[in-house]
Amino acid sequence: MAQQDYGRPDYDLFVIGGGSGGVRASRVSASYGARVAVAEERWFGGTCVNVGCIPKKLFSYAAHFAEAFHDAAAYGWTVGEPSFDWTTLRANKAREIARLNGIYEKLLANAGVEILRGRARLLDAHTVEIGGRRCSARHILVATGSKSVSPPIPGSELGITSDAAFFLERLPESALVVGGGYIAVEFASIFNGLGVQTALAYRGERLLRGFDRELGEKLAEELRRKGIEVLLKTDPAKLARKGGGIEATLRDGSVREAGLVMFATGRKPNTQDLGLEAAGVALGPDGAVRVDAHSKSSVDSIHAIGDVTNRINRTPVATAEGMALAKTLFRNEPTVMDYDNVPTAIFAHPNVATVGLSEEQARERHGKVDIYRTSFRSLLHTLTDNQERIFMKLVVDAASQRVLGAHMIGPDAGEVIQGIAIAVKLGATKAQFDATIGIHPTAAEEFVTLRERAG
Ligand code: FAD
Repeated sequence: MAQQDYGRPDYDLFVIGGGSGGVRASRVSASYGARVAVAEERWFGGTCVNVGCIPKKLFSYAAHFAEAFHDAAAYGWTVGEPSFDWTTLRANKAREIARLNGIYEKLLANAGVEILRGRARLLDAHTVEIGGRRCSARHILVATGSKSVSPPIPGSELGITSDAAFFLERLPESALVVGGGYIAVEFASIFNGLGVQTALAYRGERLLRGFDRELGEKLAEELRRKGIEVLLKTDPAKLARKGGGIEATLRDGSVREAGLVMFATGRKPNTQDLGLEAAGVALGPDGAVRVDAHSKSSVDSIHAIGDVTNRINRTPVATAEGMALAKTLFRNEPTVMDYDNVPTAIFAHPNVATVGLSEEQARERHGKVDIYRTSFRSLLHTLTDNQERIFMKLVVDAASQRVLGAHMIGPDAGEVIQGIAIAVKLGATKAQFDATIGIHPTAAEEFVTLRERAG
């Protein structure tokens, strides 16, 4: 698109969106000497800090206590009848999030980034409009994130999404969570742990599509063991009000009532009404901004990072993309993101974590693979009646013996896999895993003592 002559632009970089990616790109660019402004229409810290990772994990901790109280009895503790107060948790969570919002804003201000509040829109390849003011910029970064979508079924407005789940006035007695991805299983676990009678309905055949098949299958077993009703190959066809609750008619014809229905049925990039099309920015069929390996859009001066590009939608990825872009634009150090072996955790109960290829992906890409797996009850539960099982799996390239993937279900799986991820990223072989001495007694030591091939 033809560019007008703006003379010296107001900014070197104008960032739309003060979430994980936008904040990082702003701060780092400013530290390289760029004149940066960031526009945020809601909260600094974006989805992760306000309605994502952080409050979700706080709720997950809260939900874990239910089992801890129960299990403590086997270790000699007498715990009175535990009771849970939602408003205390909600208020404490809100206080912590407000603190984090302040920290994010301070970090930006200290880095010399100009903070603009309000909704920003692109006018052309070098101009952004916010609150009636026009700002020119050498580069514009779209870091507007994504938003949850509810299925287009009759009565869908009666259901909530994860955004509202963080601010519920009160906890319902029963909940139906719809979806089979990570947000669905995490919230089903949270509700269940907090004493809500919980069902999960997912139209697919197994949970956690895209992850190693066994993770989805085994997680469903664990969720059921903990009292969650997991319904597969069905989901609501319509919702209607019934008394004080909601009646969901499922596609399999069954009808169930719940105090709350939560949709975790996907998210879509925030690209609507941003002026992107007018500026000539190409979008993909999923509505995401199309970018090259350097996060540059179809317009040379417009870039995009994070969920709005729908690559790997996780906070550490968005921040790494922001960092790479800052280096590329303002440090004369063109940097390409490496999307291989990005580890990820799912804070369901029990936790799930993974790095590298699933068995299915590994077979497709590498042909012959060796599989090592184990499933056992943790030492902690040898004294309790908790039947939770830990699952671990290594996927190894048969030819090179490189470990291609490591997968785990069990307590603190994310903490374990974060360490394993370094080895996988470095291309460690199975023999090198085996040569590593375990830490005893831990669950994690199983990753270095898996000797029997299972496939
Ligand atoms: P965001 O963080 O969403 O930030 C975008 C910002 O842009 C928002 O603050 C928004 O208000 C602002 N904005 C949008 N449009 C405009 C506009 N026109 N003008 C001004 N401002 C605008 N990831 C993990 O790594 N671990 C987890 O455990 C995890 N848990 C999650 C749980 C839930 C329930 C959800 C929903 C997400 C979770 N994620 C998790 C994903 C993570 O939150 C996102 O990948 C991450 O926040 C993406 O960062 P971003 O910068 O692309 O967008």
